[in-house]
Amino acid sequence: MIDNKEIQEILAKYDSDRLTIGTLGSHSALNILKGAQEEGFKTVCVCRKADAILYRRFGVADELVLVRDFADISSESIQEKLRHLNTILVPHGSFTAYLSMKQMADLLRVPMFGNRELLNWETSREKQREWLSKAELRLPRTFEKPEEIHGLTIAKLPGAKGGKGYFLSDSPESFHRKVKEMVGRKLLNQVDIGRIHLQEYILGVNVYPHYFSSIVNDDVEFFGVDRRYESAVDAIGKIPASEQLRAITNPTYTIVGNIPITLRESLLPELIRMGDSVVNASKDIVSAGIIGPFCLEMVITDNLEIYVFEISARIVAGTNVGIGTSPYAYLKHGNRMYMGRRIAVEIREARKRKQLPKIIT
Ligand code: AMP
Ligand code: AMP
Repeated sequence: MIDNKEIQEILAKYDSDRLTIGTLGSHSALNILKGAQEEGFKTVCVCRKADAILYRRFGVADELVLVRDFADISSESIQEKLRHLNTILVPHGSFTAYLSMKQMADLLRVPMFGNRELLNWETSREKQREWLSKAELRLPRTFEKPEEIHGLTIAKLPGAKGGKGYFLSDSPESFHRKVKEMVGRKLLNQVDIGRIHLQEYILGVNVYPHYFSSIVNDDVEFFGVDRRYESAVDAIGKIPASEQLRAITNPTYTIVGNIPITLRESLLPELIRMGDSVVNASKDIVSAGIIGPFCLEMVITDNLEIYVFEISARIVAGTNVGIGTSPYAYLKHGNRMYMGRRIAVEIREARKRKQLPKIIT
């Protein structure tokens, strides 16, 4: 792990009046870069050639750095370029999906907004459970091995694969049958099989609340909520049950987009307390605790019981539904506040109060 002192030394050499906000061109880059521009920062987008059209058309990147592969961001020449631009990188889901922990923790010597160490926690389901348990949230049960399966169980693959290759089973037999089927459909490979995580399936609706932990204001803001639009699971309701059985034996959860939602107001006090608990627990894990955006992934049952099955310790793409504004961001900030912009505001405020080292790792 790069010593935080080293990052702070790089930051100290930056011209803080000429900071650039940068990110990988994917996931929530439009959100992050637009927000940075609106707060008066220069922006840089490290993107693949084929995707450059997006960032050019929307004009959100003052600089485009083209790479063959996202992992190239950790090459010395690109890092040098980013440091030369006084870049603060904002990590998102493509960082955790396409960069190894080694690249992020040991090689990427560019200052990052947020807590790098907690990104590491996010990539391990065991660590996530430890964090969420410390926060005293209600979690789905897990099963150590397929033989323990009883009741409806969701099988998940490691990493943020967006639900690709997930499947349901309700007994050891159905688990093994489905594994075979998934391998046949090339949704699962032999290496993945040994790394499957088995979790009690909670019947309810999925809700993804977004939070922002402000170090500058010592506050946890409730920012917005989305739900996901997943193929094929969101498509099966269109097929009558009689055909479903034959047509879709095994629905998957490939993320295609997000849908904004507002929640029943009586649920909000509990969600706010949950955000606070997660932030408090994060301080026990890593001294600085969580910095900036995070998201709890949950299922709410018909008894209004809230089960949290994952945490993202960075901006989630679900916040893209709030670009421009979202109801809860509006309540707190008025018009035109969204997660990408909120990050830029925090950086601007920290700079003004000479607190940048507190929000950069
Ligand atoms: P991508 O760069 O689109 O491949 O996304 C990087 C990672 O973030 C993948 O693991 C995706 O599953 C996840 N991701 C991308 N877009 C979204 C989204 N709109 N909602 C939730 N997760 C997403
Ligand atoms: P994930 O990649 O962990 O965010 O999960 C992808 C999707 O699987 C979620 O959006 C949910 O639809 C579903 N899901 C994950 N875990 C559970 C669970 N324990 N109970 C019910 N549905 C779940």
